[in-house]
Amino acid sequence: MTSIPLSKITITDEVRQAVLTAVDSGKYILGEQCAAFEEELAAYVGMKHCVLSSSWTAAVFLLHRAMGLEPGDEVIVPSHTAFPTIEPLIHWGAKPVFVDVDETYCLDPAAVAAAVTPRTVGIIAVHLYGHPADMDALQAIAERHKLWLLEDCAQATGATHRGRKVGSIGTASAFSFYPTKNLTVLGDGGCIMTNDAAVAERVRMLRDHGRKSKYVHEMVGFNLRFNEIQAAAGRVLLRQLDEFNAHRRRVAARYNERLAGLVATPLEKPWAEHAYHMYVIRTPRRDELAAHLAAHGIGTGIHYPIPNHQQPAVTALYPDLPKLPHTEALVGEILSLPIYGDLPLADVDFVCDRIVEFLERSA
Ligand SMILES: *Cc1c(COP(=O)(O)O)cnc(C)c1O
Repeated sequence: MTSIPLSKITITDEVRQAVLTAVDSGKYILGEQCAAFEEELAAYVGMKHCVLSSSWTAAVFLLHRAMGLEPGDEVIVPSHTAFPTIEPLIHWGAKPVFVDVDETYCLDPAAVAAAVTPRTVGIIAVHLYGHPADMDALQAIAERHKLWLLEDCAQATGATHRGRKVGSIGTASAFSFYPTKNLTVLGDGGCIMTNDAAVAERVRMLRDHGRKSKYVHEMVGFNLRFNEIQAAAGRVLLRQLDEFNAHRRRVAARYNERLAGLVATPLEKPWAEHAYHMYVIRTPRRDELAAHLAAHGIGTGIHYPIPNHQQPAVTALYPDLPKLPHTEALVGEILSLPIYGDLPLADVDFVCDRIVEFLERSA
């Protein structure tokens, strides 16, 4: 029987070889591979400083601290995102102020503008599924109110906004290298980027017990470092990223061509180049369609079924959570279809045939 997973990593012999070389190097934490990976990532995205950490969540936890986030601060965030987007700020006592998304599944700038209060310190723009958030509008709001603007690029490595890579536009940005993401390190990993040398240095110190030199601890920090074996793999996978992203775009184009008019297909704004971490359709009969596809060996996912302003961990903390009509409606209809760097177009056609068959049969 056919089996088409939702996502898959492509591992070449070059990746395997790089891992073996790192194994034999005798140095395992924050060595040459990590330093080179940081430089190459910063150059790829177009920010001055990149600091690796053990995950997106860990890196942003350190970044918030380094940028001076305080208890009681408010941070404007989409509710429709991965739960980790909001975890680090909550750990520092700040409050997520949830707003709705627009038709790109990213922050609705009008909703952001309406949510600013005297306590607001920043905005987290999530480039969800790989589509850039409307950075022009968000930057204008951030500038008007003197807020920082953090780009959550976990799903969007390689996406561009008006020809610039996402992650180079805001005050700071953060990337995830979790195995299903467009760029991975064969395990957990993440980084932050910024043009602010002082912030980058504080994150560097915080990830390694608050020190710059071996025996002098200037701050009380953490151990949220990164390792050589995964950095070595990541460096090769970074060189292959554009090729895999280009293939994701071919897959998305084929889905668009075959599914247009049958289900709601993803938008791509004229100013955006989508990285298609996820290819997400909308249909009112989502659960039946997912079951039909599963019966044919096709993996699907829902990203995400429960919006963050309705998660038990959140409702237990905040009494004054908003109603977000667009988010609350879309979570019942979204379905992520298989997409990855070497998904055969014949498999895309197979998925589309099964969707067409489901819609015709039930028409
Ligand atoms: C995966 C993801 C994260 C968390 O990344 P980790 O590296 O797993 O901590 C944060 N935000 C978004 C939008 C994600 O998709």
